[in-house]
Amino acid sequence: MLNARKLFKTPRHWTCCNELIANRGNIHIWPDRRIRLVMSSSQTSGVSSAPRATPVRIKFWGVRGSIPTPGPTTLEYGGNTSCIEVRAGDQIVILDAGTGLRLLGRELLAEFGERPMNLTLLLTHTHWDHIQGLPFFLPVYQPNNQLRILGYEGARSGLQSVLSSQMESPFFPIGLNEVPANIKIEELKEWEFELGSVRARACYACHPGVCVGYRLDVAGRSIAFFPDNELQHDSHPPSELITKRMRRSAGCQNGEQKLAEFVRGVDVLVMDSQYDAEEYEQHIGWGHGCVDKVVALAIEAGARHLYLFHHDPNHDDAKITEMLTHARKLAATKSNTLRVDAAREGLTLELPV
Ligand SMILES: [Zn+2]
Ligand SMILES: [Zn+2]
Repeated sequence: MLNARKLFKTPRHWTCCNELIANRGNIHIWPDRRIRLVMSSSQTSGVSSAPRATPVRIKFWGVRGSIPTPGPTTLEYGGNTSCIEVRAGDQIVILDAGTGLRLLGRELLAEFGERPMNLTLLLTHTHWDHIQGLPFFLPVYQPNNQLRILGYEGARSGLQSVLSSQMESPFFPIGLNEVPANIKIEELKEWEFELGSVRARACYACHPGVCVGYRLDVAGRSIAFFPDNELQHDSHPPSELITKRMRRSAGCQNGEQKLAEFVRGVDVLVMDSQYDAEEYEQHIGWGHGCVDKVVALAIEAGARHLYLFHHDPNHDDAKITEMLTHARKLAATKSNTLRVDAAREGLTLELPV
């Protein structure tokens, strides 16, 4: 548990969006009004505050799009592909199984040891950069662990078949059906379901094939995750934007108004912002987002904190920082409530409940 009083004594803090956001290295924390009151009381009286509920914790394990990009030019934001861990109450929910999942698996083993794990993995879709960490996820090699994998069928051959195929010979030495953990793969039919105390909802994304985004709400806190999604530019009508594969994507037909409604008021919006405006012109119909449009959507939807995600494999740290600076300027001219950051590997968010 973090010591809130210590946090406020750290030199690196700033005021934003009428809230005090503490930045402690790789941890962002949003103290809410209740916590501020507790702090002020304990600071003046010296009486320790009452225990409070465990915050919702979000950790980025992989933030890159398309393919892992290790190397000296990606050290700041990281090179592993899509994977986020969400801890809410007794739930451990994993969003996507890109190569960042391998690192999460190591950390879970260090935390749990021999104790059984009960994990839920929500897949947005089955492109490589969202599933390639699964064969290297160490918890599936322990028999006392449970892993429930949920996703939507997107390849006509079934989710189980798609996930198994990447571990078949000659691609991998151990089959998915041979790993000792108890793995259940379920194709979702509903668009809303519960994971313990977490209310989970899904919505189609605009991306080739079947691809969704998720929204998780728990104890008044929320995160929406759209790692792969194209937002249309006003200058490009849908007919021009949509390629043959994209034409089959229900998310492209839904339109952005539906997406804005889906993420309305969310605390944390993690969204595909792969291209700057100039690059986007060369990648219309590829199924990925332009940072300008993503900022506009976040403002329209009243999101509190936007995290740019699915960083282009050709973007080094300097380019991502440049895009972040641009996004912050855009946000500042049009909103006094939206905060923008670029997702980076290892970053942890704590949302008090
Ligand atoms: Zn992707
Ligand atoms: Zn994709």
